[in-house]
Amino acid sequence: MLRSIRSFSSTSKMLKTLKIGLIPGDGIGKEVIPAGKQILENLPSSYNLDFEFVNLDAGFELFKKTGTALPDKTVEVLKNECDGALFGAVSSPSSKVEGYSSPIVALRKKMGLYANVRPVKSVEGIGRPVDMVIVRENTEDLYVKEEKTYKKEDGTKVAEAIKRISETATTKIAKMAYEIALQRQSIRENTKTKQLHLKPSVTVTHKSNVLSQSDGLFRETCKKVYDVNINDYQNIEYKEQIVDSMVYRMFREPEIFDVVVAPNLYGDILSDGAAALVGSLGLVPSANVGDNFAIGEPCHGSAPDIEGKGISNPIATIRSTALMLEFMGYPEAAAKIYDAVDANLSENKIKTPDLGGNSSTQEVIEDIIKRF
Ligand code: ATP
Repeated sequence: MLRSIRSFSSTSKMLKTLKIGLIPGDGIGKEVIPAGKQILENLPSSYNLDFEFVNLDAGFELFKKTGTALPDKTVEVLKNECDGALFGAVSSPSSKVEGYSSPIVALRKKMGLYANVRPVKSVEGIGRPVDMVIVRENTEDLYVKEEKTYKKEDGTKVAEAIKRISETATTKIAKMAYEIALQRQSIRENTKTKQLHLKPSVTVTHKSNVLSQSDGLFRETCKKVYDVNINDYQNIEYKEQIVDSMVYRMFREPEIFDVVVAPNLYGDILSDGAAALVGSLGLVPSANVGDNFAIGEPCHGSAPDIEGKGISNPIATIRSTALMLEFMGYPEAAAKIYDAVDANLSENKIKTPDLGGNSSTQEVIEDIIKRF
């Protein structure tokens, strides 16, 4: 899919039907996934896209009922029938539940979704300007979970964990980051709102001054991918940043970052930190992406405190829907959705309570659709 990320065109004359798996999961997942569905159903006909939907099960509630958090059928339908998918949220049990593990983590593995992509964008005129995307490697680093604890001769314990970085996984994530930088540039050229960045850039985040082998390989591989593909990537500015100063700069001057690529652990921390730059969790989308498939997923959880009130902010899901379309090769349709969301946010009238408003989820969805 990466190769095709810029090569498809949603302006094709032929009507294309795309099948989308809808996995609401738990809590407000059930309230926000319908937002993604409505957005797709109402996309202007000029994009020549038609959508079919299939509802699929997963989640902690399902586990409590059936003993399974991710049914095989969900994975089979996604693999064999769907072109893309949207995932809502799963509740996290407060203490360990025997036999339960997160269905989204399992889904990422089973579908080969090796990247987590998290764009963070501020609302024009509110706070510091931010328009960045964190591209996080999702299969290795310290999260390979190869840990052991042993006792030293004096009886005290030592715990050790493997940090694995491979050339293969780093090459894939680096390529994805450069392709996203180019894709974002083409989307910027297709949107109406004022843009923060004039030129694409990719910042490689690492700690190779200390971890010269593992982070050294990450950094070296990212640079090699850039150099080898310089003909394609010559418009991208290549930058590097040591992770601790990256955190500092991200909070001091977030406006300078466009695409940031990082190994799993730093990517995890940076993406939550970046989300804090833009106010509500209800605004931040993500996508789980592999070579052949993308699942859009809002960054927030199941939010049991607001479940059933009809006030959850649908924007994280709507942006995740656009992100899914981007990875499916339809950047113009995605740009239309981003524009409509930006217009809703900058008008600052129809908004859910997390943004200080008193509108319902449905009112926000309708206001965004009105702007297509
Ligand atoms: P979980 O156990 O599923 O992670 P949580 O409540 O611990 O749930 P989140 O769901 O991420 O974590 O919610 C954190 C806070 O942000 C909650 O107060 C929640 O109401 C709020 N929040 C999260 N998503 C939204 C949303 N889409 N709209 C409005 N508020 C939200």
